[in-house]
Amino acid sequence: VRYADGKGWYDARVEARAPIPMDPASAVLHYAQEIFEGLKAYRTADGGVTMFRPDANAARFRASAQRLAMAPVPPRLFLDALDALIKVDREWVPTDAEGSLYLRPFQYASEVFLGVKPSSEYLFVVIASPVGNYFKGGVQPVSVWVSREYTRAAPGGTGAAKCGGNYAASLVAQAEAMEHGCDQVVFLDAAQQRYVEELGGMNVFFVFDDGSIATPPLTGTILPGITRESVMRLAADRGYKVREELYSYDQWRADAESGRLREAFACGTAAVITPIGTVRDHDGEFTVGDGKAGEVTMGLREQLVTIQRGTAPDPYGWVHRVL
Ligand code: PMP
Repeated sequence: VRYADGKGWYDARVEARAPIPMDPASAVLHYAQEIFEGLKAYRTADGGVTMFRPDANAARFRASAQRLAMAPVPPRLFLDALDALIKVDREWVPTDAEGSLYLRPFQYASEVFLGVKPSSEYLFVVIASPVGNYFKGGVQPVSVWVSREYTRAAPGGTGAAKCGGNYAASLVAQAEAMEHGCDQVVFLDAAQQRYVEELGGMNVFFVFDDGSIATPPLTGTILPGITRESVMRLAADRGYKVREELYSYDQWRADAESGRLREAFACGTAAVITPIGTVRDHDGEFTVGDGKAGEVTMGLREQLVTIQRGTAPDPYGWVHRVL
């Protein structure tokens, strides 16, 4: 779908995948005005197709557009585009119990000019690809690397928006994590280098011995994850006391060592809920609990996965039926 100031959104169409011709002076190539979303479509037992909370992705997409001074895609258009793509051929959505169709809506500045100002033209595109389970052979706890040198988002910056630039800035830290044998990077806050914010592509939760669960608050420098919000609802309804609170890395280590912290997990669209086993930085490492997948983590994971796949009831109205 195209956009031009004065004209609005126009020229919506579904086409076979092909390269998009781009002028070398297209604004996105120079000033990185680009945002995206990620969500999944699932096959139901009766052969239908559902998506998990696409309205939440539509709302976040719009908020990201506003932060990047882009023309927002109306939520109705966003949802219609996803539906239209899936309806071309439902066979694109895998039928096996582990698979899903990953959907990637994105929007970028397509106006041809050099100069620092918001573009007056945009392209909104959705691409899709079938994916398998994030974990091959059962859920495995991940190891994380705490980045002390790099932060992901500064106060007043774009941390709460899902824009490509945030990920560009995080890659060097993710590469560092992998060099140290870890799966994911953990970012601390930029102002004080003290509080845990999120992982490279997931939000983070902590489970304590008193039955409470905590996650960092949405201070504007972390992504408001849709899985994060869903987990908060599920956890509260399962009787856990859920807090959004600043939690320092020093406290994380101390609580893990004293046993007050029982479990930690990361969550996001790709891996749903992932136990965190080992935490490493330049000075050493510690394990959370016994380093294995914890009971609370796996209970929440099971409930969320079964709601998403339509094998458990959905009292929250999260599942959107496409076909
Ligand atoms: N934080 C970051 C930086 C992410 O890239 C993602 C993945 N979109 C998340 C958190 C989790 O968000 P969601 O649950 O909406 O996938």
